[in-house]
Amino acid sequence: MADDCLFCRIVRQEIPAKLVYENEHVVAFRDINPQAPVHLLVVPREHVASLNEARDASMLGHLSLAAAEIARSEGIAESGYRTVVNTNRAAGQTVFHVHLHLLGGRELGWPPG
Ligand code: AMP
Ligand code: ZN
Repeated sequence: MADDCLFCRIVRQEIPAKLVYENEHVVAFRDINPQAPVHLLVVPREHVASLNEARDASMLGHLSLAAAEIARSEGIAESGYRTVVNTNRAAGQTVFHVHLHLLGGRELGWPPG
């Protein structure tokens, strides 16, 4: 838990967010600047700065399984969706609490920019 971390503060509900899912391991909420009709962030309750610092395989698994469940409830599981974890500068990571983007609801180009 980091006092000054934006996503820790969302997990603690100190900052409002459109929560769509939570369980004992993860919280998911809508991205404030959506890049697709469905754009959610799935974050662990535990503070981990980036994938580089992650050591807990089950936590990483919970992020992916929650994303798949949310994709079903958002109605994009069959059409398709993308999960993305940006790590550090070159990938454009701006919030240093590891998070999985869940994007869908439109055709997604490949390769990503
Ligand atoms: P990244 O660039 O991978 O670190 O992604 C950070 C994401 O967090 C961006 O897509 C932002 O739009 C999103 N974001 C930043 N602040 C908030 C917030 N208060 N609530 C929801 N999403 C946010
Ligand atoms: Zn944090």
